[in-house]
Amino acid sequence: MNMEKEHYLANIAFFSELSAQEITELAREFRWEAYPEGVLLIKQGQRPSSFYLLCEGSVEVLKDEHFGSPKVLVAGPEAVFGELSLVTGKPYAYSVRCLENSHVLSISADDFAQILLRKPQIYQSIIEELAEDLIEANQMLSENKYKEVLRSAIKQTQYQDKFYGIWGSVRTTKEVERKLSEIREQSGNLLVLGERGTGRQMMAWYVHQNLFGEAAPFVVVDGRRFDQQWEKMYDKLFDVAAGGTLFIQEIDDISPQTQLALAQIIKARPLKCLVIGSLQIQQRVTEQKLQPELKACFYHHYTITPLRDRKRDIPVLAQGILEKLAQKNHRKTPILTSEATQLLLSHHYRQGNVTELIQVLERSFFLASENTIGLEQIFFGPTSEQVGHKINLLRWPFFENLLKKGTFLPWLRRISAVLFFLVIAGMLFSPHLSIIMKIFTLVWGIWWPALAILSPFLGRVWCTICPFSTVMNYVQNKFNPHRSVPEVFIKYDYLIISTLFLLVFWVEIITDMRSNPLYTALLLIVIQLAAILISVLYPRHAWCRHFCPLGGFVGTASIGSLIEVRSDPAVCLNKCTTFDCYVGKGNVKGCPMSQHLPYLDNNLDCKLCFNCVRNCPHDSVHVNLRFPAREVWHLKRVNQGYTVFIGILFSIILPISYYEPLQKIWPATQWKVSFTLAYFLSAILGGMIGWWLGKTFKTKAASTRIKLVFAFTPLALAGHIIYQIKFIPGIKALTLGLSHQTLGGFSTTYIPATLALQGVVAITGIALTALTVIIVLVKQHKRLKN
Ligand code: SF4
Ligand code: SF4
Ligand code: SF4
Repeated sequence: MNMEKEHYLANIAFFSELSAQEITELAREFRWEAYPEGVLLIKQGQRPSSFYLLCEGSVEVLKDEHFGSPKVLVAGPEAVFGELSLVTGKPYAYSVRCLENSHVLSISADDFAQILLRKPQIYQSIIEELAEDLIEANQMLSENKYKEVLRSAIKQTQYQDKFYGIWGSVRTTKEVERKLSEIREQSGNLLVLGERGTGRQMMAWYVHQNLFGEAAPFVVVDGRRFDQQWEKMYDKLFDVAAGGTLFIQEIDDISPQTQLALAQIIKARPLKCLVIGSLQIQQRVTEQKLQPELKACFYHHYTITPLRDRKRDIPVLAQGILEKLAQKNHRKTPILTSEATQLLLSHHYRQGNVTELIQVLERSFFLASENTIGLEQIFFGPTSEQVGHKINLLRWPFFENLLKKGTFLPWLRRISAVLFFLVIAGMLFSPHLSIIMKIFTLVWGIWWPALAILSPFLGRVWCTICPFSTVMNYVQNKFNPHRSVPEVFIKYDYLIISTLFLLVFWVEIITDMRSNPLYTALLLIVIQLAAILISVLYPRHAWCRHFCPLGGFVGTASIGSLIEVRSDPAVCLNKCTTFDCYVGKGNVKGCPMSQHLPYLDNNLDCKLCFNCVRNCPHDSVHVNLRFPAREVWHLKRVNQGYTVFIGILFSIILPISYYEPLQKIWPATQWKVSFTLAYFLSAILGGMIGWWLGKTFKTKAASTRIKLVFAFTPLALAGHIIYQIKFIPGIKALTLGLSHQTLGGFSTTYIPATLALQGVVAITGIALTALTVIIVLVKQHKRLKN
């Protein structure tokens, strides 16, 4: 169906400059509509509501200016209707009636406007098409009307919409005002210089607005396309911009010959309009292609300082941008928490300066459901990238139905929660029943080792059906909490998770919980109650993200797993305006882990709930099968505090492996004291080493040091799996026989299955760690060389 749409759309002249990928995205916005013979598709004089592409059938175009005899034109497939009205905002200039049953592709005015905003080249193409029609036929509109169309079209550019009118601190505002007064006092053209995203366009619009007012023509042309687009008409631009501003972006990208011609026209018509040129200063690139003759046409120069060199402006800019956004969207101005402001201040803005800050704040404004913007709503830096070959499981209808449409997952969760409570009740009230004892043995002997063994391969798959989470969800639906998670929990979640993990593990060993159903039930109840408490206090699954010790363990283990949930950032950034993956849609809540999919680039905090798969309206979310461990060497951002957790995981392997066996030999008090001391001292030491290796914790960027610490995760996990293997029921009675032929027949060596499995796990852990460390170092070496 989409391919058919793509076929029709690709033939429209406006879309001719779009790539195949862009056409595919565009096709998703259009819908099929069927109209029977005689029905009016468009009615003359009505406000524009849609744009239509006729695919099958035929229509008559009626233009009934004086309600007298209509002018009739018959049109067939591939004819388009309504685009002019959508661009100009004026009522339809004609009616269209179906002559037979017809099929059209249509898009609403709002969706079309969004597309024009996202893909200005379409806009440009429509204008060019119109211009061509006008120049060639000169029938539909007079010369004046053409100018009007051009002006109104150009006015619709992002300037009005994106202009926040805030420059920053008093000092920066004064600098801008001083320049404006200079231009007022001494007329002359203006050249604005600055890095990408510093606000050169805003400066141009600001000067224009102040000198001529918003209603005056503000004609924007792009130097990179100037030669092709305005080759035969660039002198006309001055007529169109008369009484206002001609703003030429990237003026040095115009060819030298055209620059000279332009310089002559500017000199010949000095007072026709104000010319503002903008020129990008790139870091480490000093060469400019601006011809001296054209440069001489600009009396005033203004250089905008990069945002990273005037960070004092950031709080003022942020406040102003949020106030304007709130006004536009009829909402209260959200408050930026001090940690969020700190995060904004600590960023370097090398990607896009002020534009980057604006984008981050706009996104955070729409993501924040409450009137506070905290760390969880600020997404910085590049979006995740598609690395290496992956297989999207959602391509197969079985997985698509399972994860996207069906009710299988919700039911599985309910069943797992019911079973879980039955087991807890059994352990509490009837621990002597043999079925309960069997289940109890399985919990410790299969479930717990399985978590350690499976998470490195299948990620947080346990979280998909976790009963704690199902109960938490149920309770949270009743209370619907709104207060934000305190920043201190967000900032130090790695410490909370590490501490809780240590405590749970310690209690488990010290109370010999593996042979005590009552204690086991109590531990599970305490965890469940804590999860409920947190979910009643804070929205989403704050427990899973910032507290759950089990989640911390499986999250760390799943960093290199075979499965990942990721989106296509190109679709997210170019198409999405609703951010349903984060915000939620209908009955399906937004990401419980506060993840915004285009920025999700590691598995640590993705609990595989698949809500985003269900919520995304653009099919941007993929569930990929990938090469294990690769994520570690491609890490871009990660919660660096987890280096502490990895250090702790590593360091407790020794005490749990060597002290626990002494439990049966030493007197209980002596053993408990010695074990506790060895356990916590090792943990503190391991945590401190992890902290030292992972510091400074100031940004989320994954440095080589961080990657190297994460590279040791397979080894730390191997240690824990080796520890768990001996608890698998019946494994101690198993032996593996290795036979080899000798002169006298076969000779067999028997190895305990525990030992064999432990050996395999140890070798796998060492090999994966060594491989990851080598690849991280090689990649770093290559980066330095380049
Ligand atoms: S993080 Fe903890 S509570 Fe949340 S789903 Fe995973 S195991 Fe369950
Ligand atoms: S994943 Fe979907 S909902 Fe989320 S930002 Fe991307 S396109 Fe929008
Ligand atoms: S919503 Fe998506 S990103 Fe968030 S936890 Fe669930 S699967 Fe992961």
